[in-house]
Amino acid sequence: MYKLSPSDFAYLWEECKLCYYLKVKHGIYQPSMPMPGVFGAINTRLQGTLIGKDLRTLSKVLPEGIVETQEGWVESVPVPGTSVFIKGKYDLLARRPDGSYLLIDLKISQPHEDKIAKYRTQLGAYNFALANPARGRSVKVSGSGLLILYPDAVSFKDGKAVLDFPPTWLELPQGEDGFLSLVKEVDKLLVGPMPDEGKECRWCQYRHVGEKLAHEKQEGVQLDIPF
Ligand code: SF4
Repeated sequence: MYKLSPSDFAYLWEECKLCYYLKVKHGIYQPSMPMPGVFGAINTRLQGTLIGKDLRTLSKVLPEGIVETQEGWVESVPVPGTSVFIKGKYDLLARRPDGSYLLIDLKISQPHEDKIAKYRTQLGAYNFALANPARGRSVKVSGSGLLILYPDAVSFKDGKAVLDFPPTWLELPQGEDGFLSLVKEVDKLLVGPMPDEGKECRWCQYRHVGEKLAHEKQEGVQLDIPF
């Protein structure tokens, strides 16, 4: 069985099928630039302040629901008809008045409408794992969406800079996450032959230069390292 991370669907899967294949099948990761720590700090503090709060009381643009958990790990049973399962960490779960849950992905980014299309399979993957856990009780998720925050105005108060983060809520239309069809595509890729690399990618060019340096020992030859 292959473990799929929901967070790879929006980027790695879209960017290069070979890199995705190498990561999932062989544990070979594409090098990545470290995220500036400030994003993690803002994200954790924002999520922490939401616990126990009814979102609607914080902002009228947000849905009704009391935030109960943050950054919860989920692992699913195998996705039927495939050789994959889901494992990852969702952002927030809020309990709705009817006892069902709202799955929330918190993003610090520009609030464009196209974000919901970008992240719908990621939300769908968490939904699947919550409804079909490998262990423990399933969670009834009746809706999901993106809570997007992006800094707006800055003011100074009591000697401190105060950044305004007006929230935007983008809800995923029910039944339109596209998760199952994506997972079938992913499964097909993983059981098939190794896909081709991207022609323009500098990481692969860098890798080939490294191969030359390591195996050919071209003394005195200046290789053009693309970084
Ligand atoms: S071209 Fe190579 S390094 Fe670049 S994303 Fe694809 S497999 Fe990864």
